[in-house]
Amino acid sequence: MCHDVARHSYARKAMGTDLGIVLYSAEPKQAAALASNAFALAESLEAILSDYRDNSDVRRLPRLVGEPQAVNPHLWAVLEQGQALSAASDGAFDMTVGPLVMAWRHSSLLGRLPDEAVLAKRRAASGWQGLSLHPANRTVTVTRLGMRLDLGGIAKGYIADQMLALLAIGGCTNALIDAGGDLVLGGPPPGREGWEVKVAGSDKALQLSHCGVATSGASQRFLEVDGMRYSHIIDPRTGLGVTHPWQVTVIAPNGLLADAWASACSVLGKESGDALIRRYSGLRAIWTAVP
Ligand code: AMP
Ligand code: MG
Repeated sequence: MCHDVARHSYARKAMGTDLGIVLYSAEPKQAAALASNAFALAESLEAILSDYRDNSDVRRLPRLVGEPQAVNPHLWAVLEQGQALSAASDGAFDMTVGPLVMAWRHSSLLGRLPDEAVLAKRRAASGWQGLSLHPANRTVTVTRLGMRLDLGGIAKGYIADQMLALLAIGGCTNALIDAGGDLVLGGPPPGREGWEVKVAGSDKALQLSHCGVATSGASQRFLEVDGMRYSHIIDPRTGLGVTHPWQVTVIAPNGLLADAWASACSVLGKESGDALIRRYSGLRAIWTAVP
């Protein structure tokens, strides 16, 4: 039976957040099946990329130090692009912050900052240059003992990109993925110029399509000690959460770039972050101060 093109939306809990799909289709059954496949894909990618899962590829990789290891192609894709972001941001974006993130999680339970001795040890176990990628055979060598990878600043964007690509292969090109407020947009709703996207913390609404939009910053999760707010975004130079009040929304050609650049900008703060991102065409940052 033939239907008119209509809007369909689907939601699941995944990646520790609400994961949503909105798409336009004239075939409701086919659309529902496609959405269900996209959610299944997200789940299988999360099993590879999540640092919360004890047996994920991400958790297993740093257990062997000093030897090249073959990695899952999805993990390779994320690591390769993430390392490029680390180089571009002079280490502000850093997927090896895992040991520092663990210290941060512990601190937020206790309500106090980690000791300097603990921090120094954790900083020594991390650092993006402690991860060597060998493109010729797509292997990865971890060179620091105690390293732990954390793809929390990039994997959501990658997974949403993969979901959108799967929908497109199935014929649904007018679609969006909403990963807890971070968006990956395909073609616009029929007859429209773009998807209406509200920018977090501002009254701006933009018409966007074929891009990624991610927001990152101090407001979302923080630890307060002596009146100072420490964000869950770690400054790899200090090992502590950043303390500036800026929240940033990045619009980029895809979800991975939006996600990772938003995290990088969150570390750098408005002045340095904005100066850096302006050097790249195709990227745009909107900053709002969190009260
Ligand atoms: P997002 O909300 O996308 O900025 O991601 C925040 C998450 O990224 C944190 O919860 C950590 O898992 C991870 N993260 C924290 N600091 C950094 C950093 N400097 N570089 C990359 N990822 C980070
Ligand atoms: Mg991010």
